[in-house]
Amino acid sequence: MQTTLRFDSLLVHGGLEPGPAGATSVPIVQSSSFAYETAEALEDVFRGRAVGQVYTRLGNPTTEALERRLALLEGGGAAIATASGMAAITTTVMTIIRAGDEILASSSLFGGTFSLFRDTLSNFGVTVRFIDPLDLEGFRSAINEQTRLLFVETVGNPKLDVPDIPLLAEIAHQAGLPLIVDATVTTPCLATGASLGADIVVHSTSKYINGAGTSIGGVIIDRGVFDWNSQKFPHFEQFYKKYRAFAFTARARKLVHKDVGACAAPFNSFLLTEGIQTLALRMERHCSNALALARILKRHPKVAWVNYPGLEDSPQHTIAGKLYGGRYGGLLTFGTGEKASAFKVINGLRLAKNLANIGDAKTLVIHPASTICADYNAEEKALMGVTEDLIRVSLGIEDCRDIIEDFEKALDSV
Ligand SMILES: *Cc1c(COP(=O)(O)O)cnc(C)c1O
Repeated sequence: MQTTLRFDSLLVHGGLEPGPAGATSVPIVQSSSFAYETAEALEDVFRGRAVGQVYTRLGNPTTEALERRLALLEGGGAAIATASGMAAITTTVMTIIRAGDEILASSSLFGGTFSLFRDTLSNFGVTVRFIDPLDLEGFRSAINEQTRLLFVETVGNPKLDVPDIPLLAEIAHQAGLPLIVDATVTTPCLATGASLGADIVVHSTSKYINGAGTSIGGVIIDRGVFDWNSQKFPHFEQFYKKYRAFAFTARARKLVHKDVGACAAPFNSFLLTEGIQTLALRMERHCSNALALARILKRHPKVAWVNYPGLEDSPQHTIAGKLYGGRYGGLLTFGTGEKASAFKVINGLRLAKNLANIGDAKTLVIHPASTICADYNAEEKALMGVTEDLIRVSLGIEDCRDIIEDFEKALDSV
């Protein structure tokens, strides 16, 4: 029955199995390991002849319920929940690439992903080329014999640029390469991996999917549509023979995810399964609050510029409207011309919290240049669109009149 439900109903019911004593919330199975009556039964599970749990690093019933729901929400496939969004990205990339390989990545990435690609992976003989995600020809012409994957975000954070993902998918597929999409900022509500044509979708579930800022988590969704039977991926051969379309998930689960060990904690999986139920309602409010604040800031005499794809004069407006169903997300950025006044605005806010997160029910702000992007040089900051006066706002779900009053009062102090 579950696959026939519509999206908003899947948020509530997807992947849920009847719980003990009629429980309707997913039970928290807070156990590291799982016992079997006989040596034969455990051997069968280890050999894959029987389905069962062994050890929570490899799988856990609470986490599996979350994985089933997230896979259904992305339009089908298989999901692996991880300890964090960064764990999801690291596990995905390590499953696909080997030393000597190249990654083509968007130049406008979340800071942690940029640092993973620029600093950590380079120590393992992996080259990452950063390309403006709006420059489709740049992506096409940068593909060479060593390229193994393309990686982009649905909406760049904090640049808020909106690449044409379906066209990027075409470019990747023409070259026999998978497209990995980080859809944290848009969530499956604004567009699914299936509608975008992505092969693998990753999310930081710490953000909108959790919705209340209560735990860190991530997920990898393999849509099972990429052909891994290719000379580019000889390390997939044994998995392809047995698991065909799901060779990626098999290699990730049986090798990289198991060995890296960045598994989701059962309690966090429970919080996510609860939190995600209200995602569609929350996203509506995040988006409408963002549009309302963007319009007010746009007219404000003390505001130098506003960046929100939902504003009609945004260069991203048309493509964002097309890909995300006329909804433009809960993030906006604006500037007051200089760092000192940006700090004054942040210090003047009462309702909005100054912290390093997005996607909470509460409205959040941060000054990226001095915090999450402080380690980048001037050229990198420019590439990511991080100016000294930029304030990033993650709109919460409060009454938008209170949010607007908060920003108007804070701007008065400038
Ligand atoms: C937060 C975030 C991540 C990293 O997720 P964590 O859960 O913090 O590890 C990755 N991508 C995007 C777009 C994010 O916003």
